[in-house]
Amino acid sequence: MASLQNASADRRPWGLPRAAGYRPAGGVRGLRHGQRGSARCTSRPRGGAWHATLRIGPAVLWLLLALVPQSAASAGDVRRAPRVAVDVGHTIAKPGAVSARGRAEFEFNRELALKVVDSLARIGLEGVLVNADGAIASLAARPAQVPEADAFISIHHDSVSEWELQDWDWGGRGETYSDRWAGHSLFVSRRNPDLPRSLLCATAIGARLQRVGFTPTDKNARRREYADALHAVHYFDDLVVLYRATQPALLFEAGVIKHREEELLLRDPRRQARMAEEIATGLAACLAVPR
Ligand SMILES: [Zn+2]
Repeated sequence: MASLQNASADRRPWGLPRAAGYRPAGGVRGLRHGQRGSARCTSRPRGGAWHATLRIGPAVLWLLLALVPQSAASAGDVRRAPRVAVDVGHTIAKPGAVSARGRAEFEFNRELALKVVDSLARIGLEGVLVNADGAIASLAARPAQVPEADAFISIHHDSVSEWELQDWDWGGRGETYSDRWAGHSLFVSRRNPDLPRSLLCATAIGARLQRVGFTPTDKNARRREYADALHAVHYFDDLVVLYRATQPALLFEAGVIKHREEELLLRDPRRQARMAEEIATGLAACLAVPR
């Protein structure tokens, strides 16, 4: 376990050092045919009748990111701006994970989701907040609220397994933590009707985040196959919000709130705004690619 002091000394601009849990891209898992440094998406509808492949090489991805317009809806363009549904993960009644300092995941999710909506508006996209009041208990009801959206992103914060937790005192209360894992990760479902664009959006967001110094984790590779190891994108086929969405969809885990230092980073409003900005730019990039 890295000490908090050492982690601080070696911190990249916005993330904890990769030693906090990330295995470099050389340790690619889940990419077939040795597709190191590129994303390979194989979409196979149930029944296996057809087989579509999308390759996102690094050069293509950088070109894609460089081409993101400052404003996605230019003056005189009568088409509506791309619309992105931003889902606040969990509910008030069932708020998800609990942070190392006892704060509910739902609160983290709502703060970041609000900033993503703001960031989308700043670059000319329309963000539609889903579950802002934390009252939508049904996962299937979330995408059902936004059938007209062009993309769907569910905002979450990560935890760890029960057996990895340790006890500590915080503010006179007994809480639990784990400093083993830190960093963000992304998920797509092969049951979503538009897997290629779901993966493109996840990859674009992952690339943007790493480009400005956010650090991914490979924590979830223990259970979830990689769709794109370089950008910490996993397959999670049975996530209801992803397969019930009628548009490209992804789930974003912003970081591990059981990690004592990362929890503080994840509560920093400036850092939240920077993360939101990169998420919005990544979404603008993937939605700008012609069908
Ligand atoms: Zn969650």
